[in-house]
Amino acid sequence: MKCTNCGTDNAEGLRFCGNCGTPLALPSIPPNQPTPPASTVEETASKISTIEQRRAILDWAISQRIRLGYRLAARSDTTAQLVKPKSFNAVFAVICVLLIVLFGVGLVLLIIYFIAYLAQKEKSVYLEVDQYGRLKVTDR
Ligand SMILES: [Zn+2]
Repeated sequence: MKCTNCGTDNAEGLRFCGNCGTPLALPSIPPNQPTPPASTVEETASKISTIEQRRAILDWAISQRIRLGYRLAARSDTTAQLVKPKSFNAVFAVICVLLIVLFGVGLVLLIIYFIAYLAQKEKSVYLEVDQYGRLKVTDR
């Protein structure tokens, strides 16, 4: 075995170089050694998320939607239902009322807007985090 430090050819089986004392390299592990089954099991296990991880993912997804104006209607550890309330433009309504009061116009506009508001449906969204930590979003 050749020393990596001084290049002296040492006898096979020696742990240190006879010339300079550098530890000799241990025989390398064959590259295509079969993977022990234990590590396969470990790898599979690491892909499955714990309830805590799933809950954390769900918490994050909920907070994202709350910022968009949704409110939380129901939730469990891994599922949640959020509802986006109807949006009502109060400024627009006030302007219409002012137009009606001051100039006697805008009543039709206000009625159309009000009907449109009543026709709006609350938007529901269902969130679910599966056992692999994947978020599933269903709009209804
Ligand atoms: Zn040496």
